[in-house]
Amino acid sequence: MSKDKYYLGSLCKHGHDYLGTGKTLRYTKWRSCIQCGKERHTNYVDEHQKEILQYRKRYYKNNKEKMCKRQKINSKEYYRNNKEIISMYQMFYRAQHKAHMQEQQKTYKERTINSTQEPRKPEELKNQRRN
Ligand SMILES: [Zn+2]
Repeated sequence: MSKDKYYLGSLCKHGHDYLGTGKTLRYTKWRSCIQCGKERHTNYVDEHQKEILQYRKRYYKNNKEKMCKRQKINSKEYYRNNKEIISMYQMFYRAQHKAHMQEQQKTYKERTINSTQEPRKPEELKNQRRN
């Protein structure tokens, strides 16, 4: 902490005691309490959070098309620059997906072979519960 920037002055009106010294750490420049300044800032953010959110929403709404366009251009450019990587990735994904699907089909077949009863329809189950 630089001594030029801060000094220990009289206790501020909110009683922000600095490390039990009974004094308040203040900005040399403004002679104002650092803690008060911080709290003022948090209060400001709290009070204005709604407005900030609304502003962001409004900004997004107003710039949606622009942003979407930019994203489209970016993805196009990205695709052009990474064609090989993307197609490799797609091939890899398809191969993985295929294996996964085959695995699923295998387990499904095994399950149908092992089960002697036919799977019940939900309606039948409902009727049984009622009786
Ligand atoms: Zn204070």
